[in-house]
Amino acid sequence: MSLAQNLTKISSLLPASVKLVAVSKTQLVSTIQEAYQLGQRRFGENKVQELVSKHPLLPTDIEWHFIGHLQSNKVKLIIPFVSMIHSIDSLKLLIQVNQEAAKAGRVIDCLLEIHIASEESKFGLDFSDAKSLVESDTYRSMKNIILRGVMGMATFTDDITIVRNEFRTLHSCFESIKKDHFPTDERFSEISMGMSDDFNVAVEEGSTIVRIGTALFGSRIYQ
Ligand SMILES: *Cc1c(COP(=O)(O)O)cnc(C)c1O
Repeated sequence: MSLAQNLTKISSLLPASVKLVAVSKTQLVSTIQEAYQLGQRRFGENKVQELVSKHPLLPTDIEWHFIGHLQSNKVKLIIPFVSMIHSIDSLKLLIQVNQEAAKAGRVIDCLLEIHIASEESKFGLDFSDAKSLVESDTYRSMKNIILRGVMGMATFTDDITIVRNEFRTLHSCFESIKKDHFPTDERFSEISMGMSDDFNVAVEEGSTIVRIGTALFGSRIYQ
């Protein structure tokens, strides 16, 4: 199927309230342009260098979402233009984002990445770490970031029951943090979960942002 057909199909499967981040990692600038022509405005990248080199070649009204593991020393490279960082996995990283955003005169939307998968390798905060982070004075004093919600990645498995349970766990982490720390803050409202193979389950479990690559662009070619 063509990119246009994939985009139409995926969009038709998503409730209007769910935001689609087109994960364009490894995709050519011309492919991103094609998706842009079709009306897609949110794109996600997981490597700082790749994002920094693609960004100046593309329209300025693209919303760039950073979805990969982010090293503190690379934060400053994306701060001038990034729209949302999904992968806040430590207080140290959030401090760096806040500092660099202050220098750039920006306020950056961030999500707390919560570790929900059974695999050891995946990044993310444990629920208790996420709680401690939002309870810390350091976080409370930050003026240049806004916590918008949580993000998570399910275990890489065909077993949909496992995936569904992990999404449920993420949803309840979100609800718990919301209730205790952001009860009246409407900005804390996002649950970023669901990729090509599991976005329908994620949506059923309350996702507000899905991050979709291969189902949109076809399989990735790594150079
Ligand atoms: C690559 C990636 C995706 C998209 O994965 P697909 O299976 O291609 O849809 C989503 N989220 C993150 C964090 C990724 O790195």
